[in-house]
This record gives sequence, structure tokens and C-alpha cells, in this order.
Amino acid sequence: MTTNDANGGSSQPSHAPVPIDGRAPLDGLDTEQLAGVGDMDPEHFRIAAHATVDAMADYLAGVRGFPVLPPIEPGSLRGLFPGAAPDAPEPVAAMLADVGRLVAPNTTHWQHPGFLAYFGTTASGPGILAEMLVAALGANAMLWRTSPVATELEEVVVDWLRRALGLPEAFGGLLTDTASTSSLIALGAAREAAGTRAAAEGIAGRTDVPRLRVYASAEAHSSIEKACMTLGLGRESLVRIETDDAYAMDPAALAEAVARDRAAGLRPIAVVATLGTTSSTAIDPVEAIADVAAREGLWLHVDAAYGGAAAIVPERRGPFAGWEGADSIVVNPHKWLFTPLDASLLLSPRMTVLRDAFSLVPEYLRTLDRATPVHDYSEYTPVLGRRFRALKLWFVLRYFGLDGIRRRIDAHCEWAADLTAAIEADPDFELLAPVPFSTVCLRARPRELAGREEEPEVRADLDDLNERLLAAANATGEILLSHTRLRGRFTIRVAIGNLHTTRGDVMRAWEILRTEAARLRG
Ligand SMILES: *Cc1c(COP(=O)(O)O)cnc(C)c1O
Repeated sequence: MTTNDANGGSSQPSHAPVPIDGRAPLDGLDTEQLAGVGDMDPEHFRIAAHATVDAMADYLAGVRGFPVLPPIEPGSLRGLFPGAAPDAPEPVAAMLADVGRLVAPNTTHWQHPGFLAYFGTTASGPGILAEMLVAALGANAMLWRTSPVATELEEVVVDWLRRALGLPEAFGGLLTDTASTSSLIALGAAREAAGTRAAAEGIAGRTDVPRLRVYASAEAHSSIEKACMTLGLGRESLVRIETDDAYAMDPAALAEAVARDRAAGLRPIAVVATLGTTSSTAIDPVEAIADVAAREGLWLHVDAAYGGAAAIVPERRGPFAGWEGADSIVVNPHKWLFTPLDASLLLSPRMTVLRDAFSLVPEYLRTLDRATPVHDYSEYTPVLGRRFRALKLWFVLRYFGLDGIRRRIDAHCEWAADLTAAIEADPDFELLAPVPFSTVCLRARPRELAGREEEPEVRADLDDLNERLLAAANATGEILLSHTRLRGRFTIRVAIGNLHTTRGDVMRAWEILRTEAARLRG
């Protein structure tokens, strides 16, 4: 008996909702599967998809009930799964039951309202729906021809975002998987723009190309250094420029480093300004850095992976003044623009240079049936296969509207300001960095230690206290915070950016920190 027969499903019109009762078709196997060839049949897919969506909605409705970080030890999960794939087919119901039993309790709940670690992100409802549709299309958007609408909708949403961020029309762009890839592409373009002909000739063993140099602040993201490794420049090529009291790059130190390297026969090719560093969300002075870049003929790449989202709010555009002078900019919609991982926006007024750095079209990918030139985004990337990422941005931007997105980003910044004010008013805590966006860096500093923070013994005690405080706060299961080090000091970060988080959750996190700090001090 087929599952459709069991449910009388085959006689139903295909658009009618199919009831899932006790003897659900999900428990059995569908016709195509029993035949041994072919995919799940569309009617069975419909039933299974409805049940899957129910599981998704139930998860989202109940996510607050889980501890944010699952209280399990590494290695404890693998043994719960069979060591080999089953030989015989299994019904979807078994898989969904196992998702509830084995997956949901053992994931770190990024969608939990108390997730305030790293950078808060959200796989928003409209974003999840679009991901489902993209999966159903199954298209590889490597060429215009392999998915015309993915290509042209990408042009559309990239331009929507470009406008929303307040950047000039000269900026084109594309969507990549992550900021790491976007910055790799940007620095690959910088290497090409410097006239190295690296894409054709490589740079190893070249006597006509001096050692190349890239500049970024001491606080710049590790992905910049990794890009230098990957591009054959080596980690040594990345010169870390010192930062000021607010962890922002010192442009005078940048100019000095460039001059020093030129005098030593090295070739400076690029500078990376970070608008919202990963540790403390510091803002490099992009206008002054752009001046140095223009004077020295350097490619200016702006890494605004997290902070860039704030530029959608015109009143919050101050820190970005001058970024329109960049040769490339990265903003991650999968960080603070409520788009499910992965989606990174790379913008550049020099798209042909990006293409020169990565284009390679073998015969089997050549488009023969078009007289007009087409836009093949894979020419701009080190990888060929491309997901249809534009659809989820189209959904997210339309569902919330730019006003809705502005309101949410504003709210996150306001809650961060409220938390900042509470920390400043508490004699037993201190802020460790300015709060330009929605991430707060703090530590417990008992009042009796005020003024003695730099004594070596006190430094060590404060590090120890805060490390234990972070562990205690996270052990409540109500919240998840992460840490960094600023000027060597152990720092607790509260990163607001998750759409499920409310102001109440932020204030609850503060209450937990205060309560646990008091408890640890006895
Ligand atoms: C998170 C972050 C990155 C890396 O982002 P991925 O998309 O994970 O590669 C790069 N730069 C900054 C400033 C970041 O905050």
C-alpha cells in the first residue's frame, strides 16, 4: 500500500491541504521511493514539507525554552548517530522525530532571544521562507544562462542595498557567501590593480615584482590576514597599524608605515579600513585613511561586515562619512540585516578590476546562444557554483521594508545605549570601549579596585573574575555572551542584533551579570 492510498491522497486536488492524522503518510514510504528510482513524489513532498514547516514553526515558538548553549561535552553526539548510512529507505517521519530528539536539543540556539554572543544575527521568517524556495529551484546561479532571474534579481537587490546604504551609483556589486570571501576578492582585485599581473603570472619567484604590502589596523578581522595567506602574499605582507584609545586606526601611523615600506623597497598595494571591528566595533577614520590611500595609490577596502548595516539609518551614517571613496566595501546581510547565513554584499566602483582578477571562462561554460553580452557573476569569484542568494534579500527587504529595518537597527542601538548607561552608573562594572553601534564591551571591576586596574596582580584578578563571570552567566542557560581581549584585558561582549531579542532580554542579561558578579565576590 502506498502512503497516498493510506491517506486517500492521490484523489485529492493537489492544492488542497492534506490532513496529517495518526496514520500519517509520513510514517510510510512514497510511491517513487518504493519503485526504487526517482525522487520523493510531489504529493508526498507536499505532506512532508507541511510537517517540516510545522517543526520549524514549533522550534521558533519554543526556542526560548532551550538553554542557549547546549550543556553537552564534545564528542557526546557522534555516538548517538548510526555509524553507517541505512541500506533501506526510511520515512520522513523518522527523520523529523530525530530532529526533535537529536538535533534541536544539541544545537547552539542562535535564534534564542538570549543569544548575545559574537555578533547577534537572525535567520528571519521571510529569509527562511526564501531559503526554502531557493532549495526547491535547485538552480546554480553561476552564469546568467543557468539562472537568469537569480542574476538579474541579484543586480536589483545589490542596487537596492547600495541605495539604502547611501552609496553612489558608481558602485556595482555582487553577493558572496561570507565577508571572508568578499575581502579575498577585494584584495585579489587590489593585487591586480597594482599592475602585478598576478592572475596570469603569479607572484612567486618574480624578480620584477617587489614584496607586496597590505595595511589594516591591529584590530582588523582575521579574514584579512587569511586573504593575504590565500593570495600568496603571505601573512607577513599584512602590516598591522596601531590603534588609538578607541581602538581605531591611527592614520598618521599608516602614512609612516607606508613610507617606511616604500623606502625599504616593498610595494604597498592596499589598505583595509574597518567600520565596526569584531572585538569592540571600533570605527577606523575612513576619510583620513582614504586620503592616504589616494595619495599613495593604494586600493581602499572597507570592512563593514557587521557595522555597515547601521548606514541604512540616515541618522546613523556619521561614522561612514568618506567610505564612498573606497575601491571596495563589504557589508554582511547575514550579520545585522536579518538574512540567514550566508549572504555577504561586496560593492565596488571598479567591478571590471574584480572580474580581471578572477575571470576564467572555459569552453564548456561559454554562452553561445546570446548575441548580447550577459552578466556571469562567477567571473568575479574564486568559486564557480553560486547559490541564488538574492531571493532571500528580496524577501527580507520587502517583508520588513527599509523603514522596518531602520526601526529594528535603531532599537538595537538604543538598547545598547541603555545598557551602556546602566554600566556607567554601576560602581562595580566598567565599559571597556565606546559603543558606536549595538555591541557593548564591559567587565566587572569591583569598586574597591577602582584606580588600581593597572597593577599586575589586580589585572590578573580582574581577568580571572571576568572569565568566571562569563562562565557563570552562560551557565544560567538564559543567555549566551562571548568575550574578547582589549589591551590584554579579558572583556565580556554583549552583542545585540537578533530580532528575537527584546529590551527585556538585554536588561535580563545585565541583571544576570550583576547577580553572578556579586555571588562570585561572595
Ligand atoms: C564577522 C566579520 C568578518 C567575517 O565574516 P564572515 O562572513 O564570517 O567571513 C569580517 N570582518 C568583520 C569586521 C567581521 O565582524
